[in-house]
Amino acid sequence: MTVNLDSSELLFTLGDPVADTKAPQVPIEQRWDDRRFHGKIVNPANRRKRSVIVVGTGLAGGSASATLGEAGYQVTTFCYQDSPRRAHSVAAQGGINAAKNYRNDGDSIQRLFYDTVKGGDYRSRESNVYRLAQVSVEIIDQCVAQGVPFARDYGGLLDTRSFGGVQVSRTFYARGQTGQQLLLGAYQALERQIAAGTVTMHTRHEMLELITSGGRARGIVVRDMVTGEIETHLADAVVLASGGYGNVFFLSTNAKGCNVTATWRAHRKGALFANPCYTQIHPTCIPVSGDHQSKLTLMSESLRNDGRVWVPKASGDTRAPGAIAEAERDYYLERIYPSFGNLVPRDIASRAAKNVCDEGRGVGPGGRGVYLDFADAITRLGRDAVEAKYGNLFEMYERITGEDPYQVPMRIYPAVHYTMGGLWVDYDLQSTIAGLFVIGEANFSDHGANRLGASALMQGLADGYFVLPNTIASYLAEAPHGDLDPADVDEAVRSVHQRIDQLLSIDGDRTPDSFHRELGHLMWEYCGMERTEAGLRKAIGEIRRLREEFWKRVKVSGTNEELNQVLEKAGRVADFLELAELMCIDALHREESCGGHFRAEHQTPDGEALRDDENFAYVAGWEFTGTGGKPVLHKEALEYEHLHMTQRSYK
Ligand SMILES: Cc1cc2nc3c(=O)[nH]c(=O)nc-3n(C[C@H](O)[C@H](O)[C@H](O)COP(=O)(O)OP(=O)(O)OC[C@H]3O[C@@H](n4cnc5c(N)ncnc54)[C@H](O)[C@@H]3O)c2cc1C
Repeated sequence: MTVNLDSSELLFTLGDPVADTKAPQVPIEQRWDDRRFHGKIVNPANRRKRSVIVVGTGLAGGSASATLGEAGYQVTTFCYQDSPRRAHSVAAQGGINAAKNYRNDGDSIQRLFYDTVKGGDYRSRESNVYRLAQVSVEIIDQCVAQGVPFARDYGGLLDTRSFGGVQVSRTFYARGQTGQQLLLGAYQALERQIAAGTVTMHTRHEMLELITSGGRARGIVVRDMVTGEIETHLADAVVLASGGYGNVFFLSTNAKGCNVTATWRAHRKGALFANPCYTQIHPTCIPVSGDHQSKLTLMSESLRNDGRVWVPKASGDTRAPGAIAEAERDYYLERIYPSFGNLVPRDIASRAAKNVCDEGRGVGPGGRGVYLDFADAITRLGRDAVEAKYGNLFEMYERITGEDPYQVPMRIYPAVHYTMGGLWVDYDLQSTIAGLFVIGEANFSDHGANRLGASALMQGLADGYFVLPNTIASYLAEAPHGDLDPADVDEAVRSVHQRIDQLLSIDGDRTPDSFHRELGHLMWEYCGMERTEAGLRKAIGEIRRLREEFWKRVKVSGTNEELNQVLEKAGRVADFLELAELMCIDALHREESCGGHFRAEHQTPDGEALRDDENFAYVAGWEFTGTGGKPVLHKEALEYEHLHMTQRSYK
């Protein structure tokens, strides 16, 4: 049954504005120094009396735990994998940005700041992004000191390459395994603290609830995923570093386990969720090959340094790529965006790919693909040089598709990759719940409506190694924050038990996976690369219907007291079903196009995103009011004092 929402139904209410009060009112270059200078410090001898919970061991959580442990706090860290090293960060391929200007090609902190704000289509907070650019240079030094094997040039200096949306070469990399190498660095620092006794690590534990008391975050409820035991852990502060929620689309480039539960549970407890509809669709992924598929594979953006994107000029041209002469090819990114060419930002490259496919010029099965061709690069640089840069990516492509990209162009198509939205945080990375800090992809902070390539690793490590360890000290310096009401702990534990019992008792006839797949189809269709009012209203109705059905028909076999992956999955899908509605409401209310949020009703005559700065230059912070209820919108006005908001152009 199709449920269409009445177009007059008001889906949210407007609340008071929200503001960041932590960024000091001094010139932007001095803000971070000033914040650190005026922030409180916990005496080293007192640090062992202060405790912090960190949920997540990716680049953000791993680096934060290691640094807080090294500082002397009592840290308790959680992840749902069997090792911290398996966090999704391990999958990052292409690189990490830093304004080192090793190439002497005009880079600077100001330029990285500018590129990131512009890349995010002027929907991020200046103070945070400026600090990110400042801290970026320290990250590389830190990682080199840890032994991260960044690529080096012939003379032994660190090598860099270019990523989308910039005209300098500032991306540091370790072949196509940058995330893995960075994570090994963070992991060894973490292990050192585990051995030193400052960090207690709980693998295979899933946070299912946040404990708040007196308006502050005081702990979490977790499930031991092997025994099913429900445990509570308390601390002076809680840090969520639980990653992004791209898997709400079912098919994405994210690891299969990535989910929204940790941040969604915090949202339900009062933390504002910011810009949930800002999703990044990455232009270079291996196209979907059929209904059976459960995962998509990224081909790193670094490939666009040397690969050329094209489709046949004529629609319906099904000849093999080698049979299509140069004059019959359309290198459409180079044609439309001559300044940036194949290195336009992801949102722009993705939309352009969709447009040429919609025109019937797509290649491969179903016409949903474009070529990424290395023939010129191989002729110019030689196969060995191409292999040295991208060998593992080429190998991965061949293993998945059975085609040799040294011989025939890769076929690629956009896919869901990253979520710019997340829990709202201030300059201190503190959410709207006191004592709850959020770092890495889990927060909304730095990327506006579109993230530039190689800047997620930069942000995760900036947050974990440098920002949070300083800002959280001000909060911890004032701990303990009064007695914890045991009734609040009991209530949190009870709600976890209740939910598990409910999931196990329904005994319906549909798997959690089947609901997830259906939800993903809806989200991709109506809240994906292009959104319309009618589509979003339809999706909201359908999501509500699906959620209702879920709670009547989901089948969770087994029990709680065992390793039960169906139960784990069901809980995560239940949260995705709530998040999805909020994403659509956010996308519907934002009557403009910006970055990855493309509303078909709002575009320039040549099909680019058309922002409405007068009415929408704000962060949308959403307050939870109950499942299916009307969320409350709190706006954080975005003021651009240092950069001038202009129509983005990469032409
Ligand atoms: C294929 C791919 C390639 C990428 N390449 C790049 C790149 O080259 N450069 C770049 O800058 N970015 C890249 N990105 C993006 C980047 O990898 C991620 O944004 C980043 O690694 C996220 O790090 P994180 O620490 O925030 O979260 P994650 O690495 O996702 O870690 C999340 C952690 O939280 C834990 N967790 C989550 N929920 C719970 C819970 N309820 N209970 C307990 N533990 C929980 C998990 O166990 C995990 O340890 C890429 C992304 C993908 C998908």
